[in-house]
Amino acid sequence: MSRNQPTTDVILIGAGIMSATLGTLMKQLEPEWNIKVFEKLSQPGEESSNEWNNAGTGHAALCELNYTTENEDGSIDISKAVKVNEQFRVSTQFWSYLVNQRLLQEPERFVRPLPHISLVHGAKNVTFLKNRFEKMIENPLFDGMEYSEETDTLKQWMPLVMEKREPREPIAATKIDTGTDVNFGALTRDLFTHLEEEKVDVQYNRSVEDVVRTEDGFWELKVKNEADQTIEYHTAPFVFIGGGGGSLHLLQKSGIPEGRQKGGFPVSGLFLSCKNTEIIEQHHAKVYGKAKEGAPPMSVPHLDTRYIGGEKTLLFGPYAGFSPKFLKTGSMLDLFQSIKPDNLFTMVASGAKNMPLTKYLIQQVLQSKEKRMDELREFIPDAKAEDWEMVTAGQRVQVIKDTEEGGKGTLQFGTEVVTSEDGSIAALLGASPGASTAVQVMLDVLERCYPDHIGKWEPKIRDMVPSYGKKLMDHPELLRRLEAENAETLGLTASENAKAENPSV
Ligand SMILES: Cc1cc2nc3c(=O)[nH]c(=O)nc-3n(C[C@H](O)[C@H](O)[C@H](O)COP(=O)(O)OP(=O)(O)OC[C@H]3O[C@@H](n4cnc5c(N)ncnc54)[C@H](O)[C@@H]3O)c2cc1C
Repeated sequence: MSRNQPTTDVILIGAGIMSATLGTLMKQLEPEWNIKVFEKLSQPGEESSNEWNNAGTGHAALCELNYTTENEDGSIDISKAVKVNEQFRVSTQFWSYLVNQRLLQEPERFVRPLPHISLVHGAKNVTFLKNRFEKMIENPLFDGMEYSEETDTLKQWMPLVMEKREPREPIAATKIDTGTDVNFGALTRDLFTHLEEEKVDVQYNRSVEDVVRTEDGFWELKVKNEADQTIEYHTAPFVFIGGGGGSLHLLQKSGIPEGRQKGGFPVSGLFLSCKNTEIIEQHHAKVYGKAKEGAPPMSVPHLDTRYIGGEKTLLFGPYAGFSPKFLKTGSMLDLFQSIKPDNLFTMVASGAKNMPLTKYLIQQVLQSKEKRMDELREFIPDAKAEDWEMVTAGQRVQVIKDTEEGGKGTLQFGTEVVTSEDGSIAALLGASPGASTAVQVMLDVLERCYPDHIGKWEPKIRDMVPSYGKKLMDHPELLRRLEAENAETLGLTASENAKAENPSV
């Protein structure tokens, strides 16, 4: 195949939730743009975005205790929770827009209402949760959050967790009914169906092997057809590297200075999945606990009702583990191959700093099922091993970089967009808070890579995301209006929640 392929406006690498979201935003803003997508697997949403590979939590910081930290004086810092909540509201606004425009159908296919609960044990944690609740409830973003230490109330909120429990220590929980369970796999697939209807050229079984800058300033991609091993070259003035765990390798190949001195640390995930429908039916919430000492924030244990393939199910985890692969379908050489001369010192420093974490993750991998059941029994005291099976979730590649606060080789737990100075290429690294914040993160990509277009696009962006450019926290009336409208459009109202909890009502 000749290297002089017709030039496309945009190439998106990878068919996960990030490329799906960016492609959809772009088609709304510039319907005439020519967009191509290359995905190495045979379908969209098969890696981290797949419903079995992530926890499906609509991360709005309603129950995840790692988004709120305790200051030395005992006060609670909720700034990260506020940011995550605002970002999730950007996602729900955009999804509502797509449903209202009939570009997405049947929102229950990808989002369902589900109470979010935080549960803690022990006097110290109870004090933390109470202080956290008192701080959060002052903020309109967290309206409706309830707090209780009363066993009877907790039994109503989570019977499966509280039955057969003899509290020997103080216990407390918060609950908020505006939480969600999101099927990011279904959403990704539906968005790609829409993109193909909009004439986006989505090519599966196509692995991008190289990304190089051409003399005329375009990006040329070397693309391997996995079916017949042939190679094609495609060029475009803008490339988004949305390869999930595979993004770091491609960013390194692009050679942009912004990608230097960055590395990746893969953390794998496992869930216990319940096979007993009687048990599944007794639970209706996402219940998040507190991470154990020394455990990374992404291994906070939680017991989640999930809706997968239209069926209610129950998952517990994730158990973190170590594998050198950067994608679930990746290679055992991924970590090794990501070490380059420019990030060698960063990686070595990180290796030394993160020895305890690596040790912890390896111990986690070697845990027997019975040991994992013991962790589950902290949530369901009489859980039986025969009712649960292990399922392997996706890989998260955490960013390693040099920072002022942490020094060389600091492990980051957030999401990071890396763009070239001229905005012609962008890559998404990291995995948390992840899919929930895809819309805000992709709007950031547009702002950084198309600064000359953003002014012209603003009115259309406001159509899609009415709060664009505003902090909803500072506009409580707009917050309440949008919350009510989006809940109605997406089927997230209190009555829908009650219906889901008890379908016979
Ligand atoms: C265990 C676990 C739990 C999680 N829980 C949550 C949660 O509860 N809520 C939440 O919001 N987020 C969660 N996340 C994070 C979330 O799943 C990810 O942030 C999100 O799915 C990433 O989307 P993506 O499009 O960037 O990557 P992916 O979905 O991984 O897609 C990347 C795609 O790129 C393709 N690709 C890679 N390299 C190439 C190449 N060279 N050529 C062509 N194609 C390529 C891959 O095959 C893949 O299809 C979780 C993640 C994990 C692993």
